[in-house]
Amino acid sequence: MSQTKPRSSSTPHRQSQGGKDFRKRVQRSKQQGQTPARQTASSPRTGNPAARPGIILKAEREKSLLRRHPWIFSGAIEYIDGKPASGDTVPVRDAAGNFLAWAAYNADSQIAARVWSWREQEVIDQTFFRNRIANALAARRTLGLDRDSNGMRLIHGESDGLPGLIVDRYGDVLVMQLGSAGPEHWRDTLADILQELCAPVCIYERSDSDGRELEGLPKRNGAVRGTLPENVEVVEHGIRFTVDVAEGQKTGYYLDQRDNRALTGTLAQDKDVLNCFCYTGGFSLYALRGGAKLVLSIDSSQEALQLAQRNVELNGLDASRTEWQCADVFDALRKLRDQNRKFDLIVLDPPKFAPTAAFAEKASRAYKDINLLGFKLLRPGGLLFTYSCSGGISDDLFQKIIAGAALDAGVDAQIVRKLHAAADHPVLLSFPEGAYLKGLVLRVA
Ligand code: SAH
Repeated sequence: MSQTKPRSSSTPHRQSQGGKDFRKRVQRSKQQGQTPARQTASSPRTGNPAARPGIILKAEREKSLLRRHPWIFSGAIEYIDGKPASGDTVPVRDAAGNFLAWAAYNADSQIAARVWSWREQEVIDQTFFRNRIANALAARRTLGLDRDSNGMRLIHGESDGLPGLIVDRYGDVLVMQLGSAGPEHWRDTLADILQELCAPVCIYERSDSDGRELEGLPKRNGAVRGTLPENVEVVEHGIRFTVDVAEGQKTGYYLDQRDNRALTGTLAQDKDVLNCFCYTGGFSLYALRGGAKLVLSIDSSQEALQLAQRNVELNGLDASRTEWQCADVFDALRKLRDQNRKFDLIVLDPPKFAPTAAFAEKASRAYKDINLLGFKLLRPGGLLFTYSCSGGISDDLFQKIIAGAALDAGVDAQIVRKLHAAADHPVLLSFPEGAYLKGLVLRVA
């Protein structure tokens, strides 16, 4: 097989491992039901190489890793040398035995391993995690994000070199979400480092997303360090939001829409606004502060709507300009159409309809449905802020869906802005899945 360009700086060491020979040995020992000679796959920093289990990929399946995509799917694995436990750090090698990465193994997931480091000399230990976390914090400081808000995503998983780990800050409370076996294994270490570097009054764990089940991990919800204060608030662009850390959605609040909410606020003056999937009132409060005439907010969660109304009060905004509906948006939009209601600005920020590409077709129909109705409810010259946070829907596909919706609604519309998640949700170039949130601002003729 072709020799792939080495990624690590330990080239001489790796070359001495004899590519083809290694593969033959693996194949031979597999046929014989034995463990291959592991000394061929040694690492200079790991002591006795035979003590280290590892993952050997199928031929040609190293390509995505060479592009530094951090996921190893179970189908790409030829052989697992040794018996690593879920969460263990294992070396990943190509079929010729060349080192590719250190990764966290997960026996129970389709994503069988997620890469911690591409450097063979790296030791995955407390110092490694301290450096990665310090780096993520430094990046946020450089971006000057705390000028806008005391709420911020501090660690954005793969894009911050820490696959499966999400950490959000709400004032002096941190919320940590462990989405895969790697961070689960290092849970205490991660909490210690976050406590040391951020000194929060509480680190609360919200490892209770459905994704945990796909990873074979139990759900967990509770304080890891300190005690959760009764009231947690985030102040974003001067607007106060109560955050339900323990029971709210995700880690309690949708930080990713911060800049987009602010943009909506600047365009809401004297407008009739419809905010669909309003959660705790994010876009609604910005629109109210921005001078909207009326804001109708719809969500299917009664708890979210209660919090939204409380947030209106908390900010001394004019509740008489608000209208709330606890309803399924798909039904509510039809009713509004039948009532011939019209709006000047509509926000559609639905939940993730397509977590992966496998759901794209069904999700496309759902996006088209709400957007078609949204277009119909707009007055001429009106603005539609439409979003998708589905990893399984690409920017291109989203734009096509919206084009189809406009066509079927019989309106001509222009894209006036393309929107993304805020800068505390960076996207690693080698991990395009990180760009999950896409938004379009459309103006209808
Ligand atoms: N725009 C919000 C975040 C929206 S999250 C913000 O800026 O904070 C998506 C919301 O959609 C959640 O509050 C959820 O309760 C709601 N939701 C999900 N499915 C729904 C449906 N079919 N009809 C109405 N609301 C729905």
